[in-house]
Amino acid sequence: MTGTVVLGGGFAGVWSAAAAIRLARAAGRELTVTLIDPGDDLVIRPRLYQAEPSRMRVSLDRILGPAGVRRIAATATGIDTGRRTVTVTARDGHRSEIDWERLIIATGSRLQPPTVPGAELLHNVDTITAATKLDAHLHRLPDLPPGEGRFTAVVVGAGFTGLEIATELVDRLAALPRDPGEQVRVVLVERSAAVGPELGPGPRPQIIEALTTLGVEQRLGVSLAAADAEGVTLSDGSRLAARTVIWTAGVRASPLTAELPVERDRLGRLAVDTELQVIGAPGVYAAGDTAAAAAEPGHQVLQCCQHALQLGKFAGHNAAADLLGLPAVPFTAAPYVTCLDLGSAGALFTNGWDRRIVSTGDIAKARKRNVNELWIYPPTDDPDELLRQADYRFSVRQICS
Ligand SMILES: Cc1cc2nc3c(=O)[nH]c(=O)nc-3n(C[C@H](O)[C@H](O)[C@H](O)COP(=O)(O)OP(=O)(O)OC[C@H]3O[C@@H](n4cnc5c(N)ncnc54)[C@H](O)[C@@H]3O)c2cc1C
Repeated sequence: MTGTVVLGGGFAGVWSAAAAIRLARAAGRELTVTLIDPGDDLVIRPRLYQAEPSRMRVSLDRILGPAGVRRIAATATGIDTGRRTVTVTARDGHRSEIDWERLIIATGSRLQPPTVPGAELLHNVDTITAATKLDAHLHRLPDLPPGEGRFTAVVVGAGFTGLEIATELVDRLAALPRDPGEQVRVVLVERSAAVGPELGPGPRPQIIEALTTLGVEQRLGVSLAAADAEGVTLSDGSRLAARTVIWTAGVRASPLTAELPVERDRLGRLAVDTELQVIGAPGVYAAGDTAAAAAEPGHQVLQCCQHALQLGKFAGHNAAADLLGLPAVPFTAAPYVTCLDLGSAGALFTNGWDRRIVSTGDIAKARKRNVNELWIYPPTDDPDELLRQADYRFSVRQICS
């Protein structure tokens, strides 16, 4: 039996695989579940803005191995829905084809680099490799010759990720050894006229207050025109001397979604039905940042951890149910919440799509720590607990951000 194949070992993929196994066990049936990812770890992507990002990972084998999920370390490069195969390239370059009866596409999303001169000089915190490179770069700053911009960081994009890395950088830069009088400067550059454009006006006053408290400068209504070794040029012609420039704007679904000749949204996400089956591709499901699913009336899921976890559990359940002849369940999202880290200015916890503020400061920060350090981590070496939590009805907290 070829069973269910899950592409991607992020939050959506891990919970898809666990949920598929859970349903089969609950029904007393056999099911082969295989997870394909080029890496060996679940990367805790929402924490990559923090210091020491290389530790933000958990062994996939310790999460899924004891539950009986097979794992192949490879990159999926092609999908044939007619023959029900996926082409993969292993880490040694070996290419092969893997059969599937049900396929779950959970290959996540990627930051889109800008097409400006010097784009190759920009840092980002989208992947563990990039975040680790940034961390190493920050630690090398004290060894550079003193000069304007040595401890200045420009963060381009004042969305969720831009706000989190900008506020966190204030302390990360301040912790580095500096000459007396050398200032730490963090500048947030945003094309829109307001910070947090996609967060809406609700939480904006608190965000601006936190940025002001931390001394994070805002350059609104301008975009990045060019980067070079000394700093950046903005679209209004102004210059900022900065040795660290971080790009955070614009994430799109994994390019693997383009393998299917079906409808995709402006973020490259696959259109799915209420059971998370890709419309126009029978037997193929999507979960996490690759899925354009309805969350609540009038709202689509966001490319966020809260939705990735839930989508994974429903997609895994439904793909297994379809294969085993069991009833599918329609996807229902838990009430939407967010928790935005604001560095040493605390955090901001909001409820609902209009992001009504529930808590700020230390109270919200304590929640953010729980989200980051506990709630988004799946159990390891504990298959019973993993499968208990893999039930689509299970919810410890309304986790997001
Ligand atoms: C800095 C940062 C901060 C964030 N903060 C928050 C936050 O506070 N709250 C929140 O809710 N969300 C946050 N997010 C977003 C959140 O991390 C994502 O929405 C979430 O990780 C999506 O999960 P996923 O499983 O769909 O994809 P991913 O986590 O991207 O995982 C996809 C997996 O697929 C694998 N893969 C990719 N291509 C292939 C292929 N061709 N073949 C096989 N495998 C493949 C990748 O290696 C990866 O392991 C943040 C993201 C970043 C970068």
